[in-house]
Amino acid sequence: MTFDKQYPDAETLTQVEFDGDFTIKAGESKPCYICGITTSWLNGSFQTFICSPECANKLWNEYNEACIEREYQESSNEEKANEQ
Ligand SMILES: [Zn+2]
Repeated sequence: MTFDKQYPDAETLTQVEFDGDFTIKAGESKPCYICGITTSWLNGSFQTFICSPECANKLWNEYNEACIEREYQESSNEEKANEQ
């Protein structure tokens, strides 16, 4: 369920914690970074508009995958450097 539906009466700058992350009611509405529906909730960790805990989880998954990829690339670069 979206934050807008969970907290319809939240005032601007209300902070809501969930799953060790938090989200803030912004004074403007923008499309959710993940699914594109309009939301006025800004994710605290990424400073990006996220409409629901489900979309926040997807964002974290993307972030974690990006980190794993970067670590992999860094370690393969190190191997190349060692070969020279
Ligand atoms: Zn969304």
